[in-house]
Amino acid sequence: MFSNKRWTIARPRRHNRIMGLAFLLLSILLNPSAALAGHIGAVEIGDGEITVRFDDLVAGASTFLLAGPDRIALDIAGAEAGRSPPGAGMVRAVRQGQQGPGTARVVIDLAEPALVSNARFAADGRSLSFRLRPVSADAFERAARGPRVEIQPPAQFRAKPPEKRYSVSVPIGKPKPAPALPPIEGPDNDRLPLVVLDAGHGGHDPGAISPHSGKREKDITLALVRAVRAELLASGRVRVALTRADDRYLVLEERFGIARRLKADLFISLHADAAENETAHGASVYTLSEVASDREAARLAARENKANIINGIDLGAHNSDVSSILLDLTQRETMNVASDFARLLQREAADDVTFRTSAHRFASFVVLKAPDTPSILFETGFISNKDDAEFLASAAGQKKVARGVRDAVQIHFARQIAAR
Ligand code: ZN
Repeated sequence: MFSNKRWTIARPRRHNRIMGLAFLLLSILLNPSAALAGHIGAVEIGDGEITVRFDDLVAGASTFLLAGPDRIALDIAGAEAGRSPPGAGMVRAVRQGQQGPGTARVVIDLAEPALVSNARFAADGRSLSFRLRPVSADAFERAARGPRVEIQPPAQFRAKPPEKRYSVSVPIGKPKPAPALPPIEGPDNDRLPLVVLDAGHGGHDPGAISPHSGKREKDITLALVRAVRAELLASGRVRVALTRADDRYLVLEERFGIARRLKADLFISLHADAAENETAHGASVYTLSEVASDREAARLAARENKANIINGIDLGAHNSDVSSILLDLTQRETMNVASDFARLLQREAADDVTFRTSAHRFASFVVLKAPDTPSILFETGFISNKDDAEFLASAAGQKKVARGVRDAVQIHFARQIAAR
């Protein structure tokens, strides 16, 4: 019969297919690392959070810390290394390599010391996320002596651990050296307070531009910073370092990162504002806050935070239009000291520099986010205003600003020492 004949011919073929499937299943069971390895599809660096995505299930993960240079290592069992993104924000670089059989190692080179917190797999086991919590260099060193931390995917979405029959190791390469720290100027005495001065903008980021003279904020801020440095060094009471001493670009996290790595006692970022209304004039002092003091402060913070964006690519860890920044409780004390200094600066500089009414404002400036360094942003005036621009571009005006900062700095540290 026709149908019968067809059946008899088909039968051995189907048998072969079943045998083939059985063999495949058997080989998966015998060697899960070969068949179940999830490749690392992406490493995403978000706002203080890192997510590692896999294209398949993995067996588990563990993290540990390495100090000097500071790194976070992440071993992922049952995974194969993939491509790494460029560094951003607190992350200087990401490197990956194969560490033994079926285990991928992701190394995160840190721009500043930070611990892993809230590490967890997604419910489907296809991604692993954790937050970076900035800490002092000492706290990082202590944590780096601790044990590995294991992170398990949900049981039903967990691959079998890789077998240890053979091993393939691919070296990851040497860590990139941290960007060189600027020199500390002034008396060679560690016990004197250290002030880090930050000239806003620089390099391909000109900042605001004067509609009258074409003067650029980045040049004015550098001149101001040099004048402040000269006054502070002449006082002989503090040490000084500059985030930039020439026309170069730094992302905002690198700026406060320098202050943190140097363990600075005070961070002052100098800027010059611009407004469409050319009559707007006068200086303001800003400190960090989750919530802005007013709409104008919020808009200014959004504008200053945009310094991290070039050609539409955010080079920092933060979204440029953040309306608020979540702050650690440990940051409150630092913020209180910064607020005290902001008020002091306004008081001490008011004789020589015109301030706006309600001159102490606050908003979520990324550059002020160092958790352990009191930080202020000094908008020294409006370069969109003819008089302000001339004042700020003149040596005499710069000296007046510098003297105001010097007096406030001296009183600030005298109070701090008295309070101890
Ligand atoms: Zn600016």
